[in-house]
Amino acid sequence: MTTIALGLPGMRRELPSIEGRPDVPGLIDTFGRVARDLRVSITEKCSLRCTYCMPEAGLPAIAREDLLTPTEIARLVGIAVRDLGVRDVRFTGGEPLMRADLAEIIRLSSDVASGASISMTTNAIGLDHRIRELVDAGLTRINISLDTVDRDHFARLTRRDRLPAVFAGIDAAKAAGLTPLKINAVLMRDTLVGAADLLAWSLENGVRLRFIEQMPLDADEQWARDNMVDAAELLDVLSTRFTLTKPHRDDPSSPAEEWLVDGGPQTVGIIASVTRSFCESCDRTRITAEGTVRSCLFGDDETDLRGMLRGGADDRDVTDREIADRWRAAMWGKQAGHGMSLPGFRRPERSMGAIGG
Ligand code: SAM
Ligand code: SF4
Repeated sequence: MTTIALGLPGMRRELPSIEGRPDVPGLIDTFGRVARDLRVSITEKCSLRCTYCMPEAGLPAIAREDLLTPTEIARLVGIAVRDLGVRDVRFTGGEPLMRADLAEIIRLSSDVASGASISMTTNAIGLDHRIRELVDAGLTRINISLDTVDRDHFARLTRRDRLPAVFAGIDAAKAAGLTPLKINAVLMRDTLVGAADLLAWSLENGVRLRFIEQMPLDADEQWARDNMVDAAELLDVLSTRFTLTKPHRDDPSSPAEEWLVDGGPQTVGIIASVTRSFCESCDRTRITAEGTVRSCLFGDDETDLRGMLRGGADDRDVTDREIADRWRAAMWGKQAGHGMSLPGFRRPERSMGAIGG
């Protein structure tokens, strides 16, 4: 397959091959997986600089004209839900709250996404000032990222002293009825010591905590397999303070294994993305902030849709059907998995904040 370097990793301009693909409407790949969960990154900007994600100086800015507009995002969301069988749409980034037009993005998208959930992953900074407009626009669910409840530790980890602002955002989301609220925490050696405090805080505040194994997607390239904290180590630490029983999955396609805490009903989730890969049941498709389809977090091949949205090479209006066909073809070429345990594993060129987690 030929790729052209355009400042993006391996971006495809020509139609990927669909040889052997059955003529079905959904997003299927050669391994029989079906994508129904769409992640849309809407910005590379962020109010934090989490060490496991962003470089200290932030990501290189995307030129304004290269970012998808609210109308373009909504057109892709409409195609995904109506023509491709997507059921969950999640906005991410970077930090979605950095976009002043976020409410418009959500409103236009929910207008065309009947039957699908519209959610967002956020660090919650500034959420308290905007939650009403976002819920009114159609936001139905929210995941908030928080790795520690210790203010000094938060400041070191995110390079910003903003923990009170995150708490204000969490309170606002709960008050707006976006419950059960999910909190995502990235598992690192540095945060292991505060993991039990974070769980105690989550139980007190009625939020659902999920730990995620750190993936080699940090812009600073400091991740090392030998030093990463795995789910087993976390369970040992949490078990010194809590009784964890009956691991189960609420939904078989969910990557989180849920453990009952002290007999329940509250739970803690663990997403062992590195040590217990769930690639074989992956149901995701991604759109980057510049409008490329990325079928796998770890696959640098991207298929451009923005060019189609803005008029084809021959300057004619490209139909939704043609865009859907290109998206289907991109999904057909999805790789088997991240291959982190294989000898030839290479990190992707983009870091997490530049893909959209
Ligand atoms: N700024 C928003 C936030 O932090 O929730 C949305 C974007 S962020 C890239 C999405 C999710 O990716 C967050 O939950 C974050 O913790 C997670 N993440 C970032 N880098 C990661 C890494 N190297 N490994 C695992 N998860 C990571
Ligand atoms: Fe920003 Fe989210 Fe990355 Fe942290 S994880 S730097 S909040 S994009």
